Amino acid sequence: EMNVTQGDYFTSYEDLEIHRLMLEDEPRTDTYRRAILGNKNYFKDKVVMDVGCGTGILSIFCAQAGAKKVYAIEASNLVKLAKEIVKENNFEDIIEVIHSKVEDATLPGDLKVDAIVSEWMGFYLLHEGMLDSVLVARDKFLKEGGEMFPESAVIYVAPCSVPQLYNKWTNFYGVSLSTFAKQLRASKSSKPEIMQISQENLLGAEIAMAWINLREDTVNDLNCYSIQHVVGASKTGQYQGLCVWFECNFPELSSGSRVVLSTGPEAKLTHWKQTVILLPEEQNVDEQEPIAFLLDMNRDKNSSRRYNLELTLLDPQEVEHPVPCTCDMTKCIL
Ligand code: SAH
Repeated sequence: EMNVTQGDYFTSYEDLEIHRLMLEDEPRTDTYRRAILGNKNYFKDKVVMDVGCGTGILSIFCAQAGAKKVYAIEASNLVKLAKEIVKENNFEDIIEVIHSKVEDATLPGDLKVDAIVSEWMGFYLLHEGMLDSVLVARDKFLKEGGEMFPESAVIYVAPCSVPQLYNKWTNFYGVSLSTFAKQLRASKSSKPEIMQISQENLLGAEIAMAWINLREDTVNDLNCYSIQHVVGASKTGQYQGLCVWFECNFPELSSGSRVVLSTGPEAKLTHWKQTVILLPEEQNVDEQEPIAFLLDMNRDKNSSRRYNLELTLLDPQEVEHPVPCTCDMTKCIL
């Protein structure tokens, strides 16, 4: 059954519309471009691996930045297209497209690479679990002291209002649809909702719930994250959900200023938007009122590409300081 899921996963990437969505996501594509082409001094004459090259765009950025050799690994049948795109850009001598899962790939003479580039992020960062493959690639192919693009990632959470699912329904073209909206919210509360949350919908400061170091973390480190937190409401409003987003940091090399890809409410909208965990019922909060919650993010036991996000509302009085790590590792190892 696991193999069926794996098969579906790679065939889903044969849909060109998915690649169009990613390519046209300007913050995404341009951040990678700046992180690579802004580091030409670093990339010159380097050997690079692109994990999950898709159309090959990141490999081409690396070749444009002066890489001596790029191994572009792609498991789906998109490899045929990637090869043609490499040719279209006259990089056949530099970029070698390899049709393989990176887990099964081999390089000539057990060669190691100077850097790994990959765009592996899913909704709320970890959905799809592709980072596992990138970490396997690192352990197999990256030289000691090699660079990872990106090299770290952070998941943030903050309490928020969700006006799309509340406000307009009380008077919708002159009709009250509160009952509809209530059922709609109930149907959505069992799984995280991908939607845009603007900065003014946030009800308190964000907190980092996970900090992932791509140079060091292991696949097991990605199995569970947990945060117990109390935050003062930044204004009077309706607390309706928890907003989750992520940020990726690229290595600071020759460019001097760090390149960051942010998918938060303050940043330009990306195709990841933001993820919202809806509260079963909204709560009115006053400015400075404490909001306490526990959020657990555990890898699904049956499907390693999925995570279960579980929100528990807490009584602020009962939350201890300093915040203990509530993540019971024994519970979440697969
Ligand atoms: N690098 C491209 C595509 C990113 S989407 C871009 O930035 O536009 C991720 C790609 O990685 C998909 O094409 C998917 O098929 C591929 N992929 C995912 N896991 C992989 C693995 N384990 N081995 C090889 N390719 C993988």
